[in-house]
Amino acid sequence: MESVAIIGAGLSGLTLAHLLKGKYNVTVYERDESYSARKQGYRIGINSDGYQVLLSLKNEKLVDFLNQQKLVGFAMVDETDKDLVRFEFGESWIVSRWKLRNMLTEGVEIEWNKKFESYKHENNMVTIQFADGGMVSANYLIGADGVNSQVRKQLAPEIAIQKLPYFQAGFIVPFPTKEQCPKYHDLLQTHLVRVLGPKGSTILLLSMKDQGELIVSPSVQSKEMDFDEFRGFFKEIYSSSECLSILGSISLENKGVELGFLQNSNLASFKANPFPKQGNVFLMGDAAHAMTTHRGLGANTALQDAADLAVAFADKQFERYVDILFSRGVAAVKESQASTEQIHSFDAYKRAWFLKGLGVALAPYMFFKNLLKK
Ligand SMILES: Cc1cc2nc3c(=O)[nH]c(=O)nc-3n(C[C@H](O)[C@H](O)[C@H](O)COP(=O)(O)OP(=O)(O)OC[C@H]3O[C@@H](n4cnc5c(N)ncnc54)[C@H](O)[C@@H]3O)c2cc1C
Repeated sequence: MESVAIIGAGLSGLTLAHLLKGKYNVTVYERDESYSARKQGYRIGINSDGYQVLLSLKNEKLVDFLNQQKLVGFAMVDETDKDLVRFEFGESWIVSRWKLRNMLTEGVEIEWNKKFESYKHENNMVTIQFADGGMVSANYLIGADGVNSQVRKQLAPEIAIQKLPYFQAGFIVPFPTKEQCPKYHDLLQTHLVRVLGPKGSTILLLSMKDQGELIVSPSVQSKEMDFDEFRGFFKEIYSSSECLSILGSISLENKGVELGFLQNSNLASFKANPFPKQGNVFLMGDAAHAMTTHRGLGANTALQDAADLAVAFADKQFERYVDILFSRGVAAVKESQASTEQIHSFDAYKRAWFLKGLGVALAPYMFFKNLLKK
């Protein structure tokens, strides 16, 4: 049986390992010391594309887990808590990224504490060098090692990660009580909430009510700020909002995502596909196409890559996979960046009118969509 070495036990690497096991000797090499070494305490939204890929793993426990928390819709409000627009999701499963990753670690071979450094080709095989001095050879090498991929740096060095002029952080705070924030307490039971404020600022609120917690992710179009400046900026803008009491509980101790610039890859600027279509080294997920978080496409695109790469392995036809990786990656990077720019760019009231207009335009579509569902 031929061997496949996957670098990175993230969502795409683990999914591919499940899809290939039994047909190839698959080993995942992960730099973390163990599955619990780096707790990633936030939720991600799995859309119907990502859900279909996870369903194809035929794991009932995983399906039960996915179905635990579904959100009905998305609400946008302004900095004084006034509604701007609400719409229903097609379907969205909101899950703990850490728990999802842990479930995917079951049933596949993983070598922890194995930091990939470089590779070289030898006699039709790929020889992989790890930071601890160890080496292995495999028929195929897959770089699923995330946004700062070392495999990508060697395979497609022209793809670079760009810092965008938006400064963001993520915090995990106690879920607000009804007394503290009556509006958000109720709305967050069913909706993901985006607060749009002036000066290009915005806050994402996402429930983790099953844990009694809330994710708060403020971001602003800005130069670099330290934590006190960042918190002060938001407290001033959201002073007439229920958000103020939520913002009062953010601190450096409860951060889930570091304060820093949003990152994106320059993939969208390529006219021609920069990924090699032949050979035995391929990329997937964020390693190939890092994108901003605002459209919630990163994990879903990465999962689709894993499914398509598994199909390519079935008949060793990798060209089509590499074409899809590029075209879907470019589309997702562009869409995510457009979403980031849009939520940061307008003044709040202009956005309100824009979004109200969007709501009116979408109303007949949503009406007929719901009618057809019934
Ligand atoms: C706050 C936040 C919210 C998000 N929300 C959403 C959302 O709602 N919906 C969505 O679709 N996406 C979301 N994303 C994006 C999503 O998490 C990523 O796009 C997705 O995890 C990418 O999967 P991946 O397998 O490519 O990489 P990752 O899941 O990042 O996995 C990469 C793995 O490679 C390992 N690794 C890195 N370097 C090495 C090395 N040298 N050697 C060995 N191992 C290495 C890492 O430790 C990691 O385990 C969000 C991201 C963030 C930060």
